[in-house]
Amino acid sequence: MDTKPITFNPPTEEAPTILLPVVASLFADRAERFSTLAEGHSLADWLRFLGDVTRAQHAALQQLPPLELPPAATIEQALTHGMPPLNASALTRPAAWRDALHQIVDALLPGAPTQTRDILTTLRAAPDARLETLADALLKEGAPDSDAAAGELPLVAAALQVVWTRLASQLDASQLKPLETPNVCPCCGSLPVGSVVRLGEAVNNLRYLHCSLCNSEWNVARATCTTCGDEKGLAVQQIEGSSGSMRAETCDSCKSYLKIAYQEKDPKVDPVADDLATLALDLLVDDAGFSRSGPNLLLVNAAG
Ligand SMILES: [Zn+2]
Ligand SMILES: [Zn+2]
Repeated sequence: MDTKPITFNPPTEEAPTILLPVVASLFADRAERFSTLAEGHSLADWLRFLGDVTRAQHAALQQLPPLELPPAATIEQALTHGMPPLNASALTRPAAWRDALHQIVDALLPGAPTQTRDILTTLRAAPDARLETLADALLKEGAPDSDAAAGELPLVAAALQVVWTRLASQLDASQLKPLETPNVCPCCGSLPVGSVVRLGEAVNNLRYLHCSLCNSEWNVARATCTTCGDEKGLAVQQIEGSSGSMRAETCDSCKSYLKIAYQEKDPKVDPVADDLATLALDLLVDDAGFSRSGPNLLLVNAAG
């Protein structure tokens, strides 16, 4: 394991606290990244399939009209109380997410491998009530068991990501502020999939957590545990011989870990795609006794 000291860069005045997702490019760039990562990878077929899922997310998002946000007064009230305005477990889900799911399934069906075809066909024919139960299983803690078949929830998650990404993109970033709990998305209240140390003016060397659901990002200090805030027990691990663009930050205080993507090492690194291409790193830190502190929704299993 490789442990390196981390330098701390405080945000400058111009640095945005919250980066909202860019509808035109977010999923298109991620799909491209999955294709690149699939080259010569031991999980090439799976990564290529996820690239197809992400391309379908892009197409569904481009076709999705702007959605109705909660009333301004409700948003205002949430912000005053330090709550996320698009709280994924409380907001009435826009019915458009089921249309997005149908579009994603229709896009995947023609090229899908046999074992995936059954899942896609079942999902396409599922009544609305069943789809809502599956969405609850993903978004609501303590929701009743959904009886989801293996492979169903990542597709449901893909559709929910499309709709929450659209909703988040419609917020006014200057109104938003980070929540008291640093590892909760200030837009939708979900956990982060990982963090990104960014390149580029105003954000250079700053770290942003990336939301597992709505793809928003929010600034957090480097060299602090994003789960418990501890600074002392942190270490950064990477797979020996890797480029170092994807590392895992482990915390000895709370025994959690989350991955960090370094744009400096690879400007195209993606917190979702590169996460799934580096599952060996998860095995390494899991074996060392750390538990991951945020999900990758494209990997959730039947049990959620
Ligand atoms: Zn979010
Ligand atoms: Zn910690």
